[in-house]
Amino acid sequence: MRAASNVAIIGGGISGAVCASILAGKGVSVTVFESGRGPGGRMSQRREATGDGSELRFDHGAPYFTADHGEVAGIVRSWEARGLVAEWKAKFGCFDRNTGEFSDFEKEGTAKKYVGVPGMNSICKALCSEAGVEAKFGVTVGKVDWLHERSLWSLASLDGQDLGHFDAVVASDKNISSRRFTGLTEKPPPLDITLFPALSVMSQDIPVHSCFALMLAFAEPLTSIPVKGFSFKNSELLSWAFCDSSKPGRTCMPPVRETWVLHSTAEYASKVIAQNGLRKPSNDALARVAEELFQEFKTAGLNIPRPVFMKAHRWGSAFPGAVIGGEDKCLWDKNSKLAICGDFCASPNVEGAVLSGTRAASKLLGSLSLLSGIFLCVARQRNFVRPFLYPLPPPNLCTVRGLVTVTATIRCPFLYPLPPPNLCTVRGLVTVTATVRCNPRISIRSPDSSIKLIESRLQNLMCNN
Ligand SMILES: Cc1cc2nc3c(=O)[nH]c(=O)nc-3n(C[C@H](O)[C@H](O)[C@H](O)COP(=O)(O)OP(=O)(O)OC[C@H]3O[C@@H](n4cnc5c(N)ncnc54)[C@H](O)[C@@H]3O)c2cc1C
Repeated sequence: MRAASNVAIIGGGISGAVCASILAGKGVSVTVFESGRGPGGRMSQRREATGDGSELRFDHGAPYFTADHGEVAGIVRSWEARGLVAEWKAKFGCFDRNTGEFSDFEKEGTAKKYVGVPGMNSICKALCSEAGVEAKFGVTVGKVDWLHERSLWSLASLDGQDLGHFDAVVASDKNISSRRFTGLTEKPPPLDITLFPALSVMSQDIPVHSCFALMLAFAEPLTSIPVKGFSFKNSELLSWAFCDSSKPGRTCMPPVRETWVLHSTAEYASKVIAQNGLRKPSNDALARVAEELFQEFKTAGLNIPRPVFMKAHRWGSAFPGAVIGGEDKCLWDKNSKLAICGDFCASPNVEGAVLSGTRAASKLLGSLSLLSGIFLCVARQRNFVRPFLYPLPPPNLCTVRGLVTVTATIRCPFLYPLPPPNLCTVRGLVTVTATVRCNPRISIRSPDSSIKLIESRLQNLMCNN
């Protein structure tokens, strides 16, 4: 019998990383599988180099995010306190390609813009490194099978490698059951969604909007541009431009003085993809896109010098064109403990992805505590603990067995050299086999009867009910 619940999370973007962090914080053992070389997904940061070898970094996905929803705003504040995000206090506006003028300058105090520090991927990096989270990068999950008789999930990689068995799965990518997966990999989608009627909304492919990002590095600041971020009006090719190097925590190494990231319009991107297909574009195709987008930037009436570095990146599924999570902001199959989350379940942005990740974690925690008895803290004066068996139904009878992590605050009369009141925290493992009832006692034998356990936590107990 395994001592702890283990959950596989497919995707190390922000929704998967938030979900992983919440679950691990509650004592669940989490494994994140991510196709990319690192975490972040559409909040990635790209490393490049100029011709002379100077390193460049670009936030080539989401340039920033906002947090209006109370729950997300609270999470973002906690990231801010940890130094993972900072507010990007820059002037934003709109550029009209027809008139060659900037307008609609944003007023001070409009929704705060947050960025990861020193890169957009910093948040996912930190969350995927937390205790209890094991992250495996460069692993594409190619098969996700529900073993009904064993109530377990079995995962395999795209190249057929066994990735293990799990009590529950969180899939944070909309292609998990989509034909689009086949278009990209020439393999069938990992999950057969027809086996899970509660998730039938996933049986239709979710429409997506594509985007090309153009990364540019300049030897001189672009002084003709009076803002650090602007949208384009009346351009068929470009939608947004951001001065990446003006974000907090970024530095430019000579010869580079400023870096910019431009976003294409969805119409331009879908036209190019219709010509070239879904598979990864060739370097030549990307170079042609880069030149076209740069010419549009240059000829739009802005005085733009030739960059020292220029490269395009394709985001085939930059934004979901539909949101399918309803009130729950995620999809959930209770019987198999399968959650699906991501921006396509809540709203097509970072905020929506964070919210969806939290909701998937809540669904799992509700069901995993039934499955594996995460016993809540119990305390009291003598050497025993009283687990609350919430949410087990009456009569709250179950067998617990396994290694229990005990964190206890103890009072000991002779704990030299601790000063009175001789309180300290100890951690240790205790083996427990017991049948417990509502409000039971589990004895924790102390090596020294003078040590009194006055507060304790039990985690990761296996529970059969
Ligand atoms: C160009 C661009 C501009 C944007 N601008 C903004 C903006 O200004 N503000 C804003 O809030 N949002 C913006 N967004 C959207 C924002 O980035 C996304 O909404 C958010 O990052 C989505 O997070 P997610 O976790 O739902 O998905 P993702 O970040 O896509 O994460 C899913 C992860 O799953 C991995 N994966 C998929 N399949 C598998 C598999 N089979 N095995 C293993 N791993 C797998 C993927 O590699 C990916 O890392 C922008 C996005 C782009 C691309």
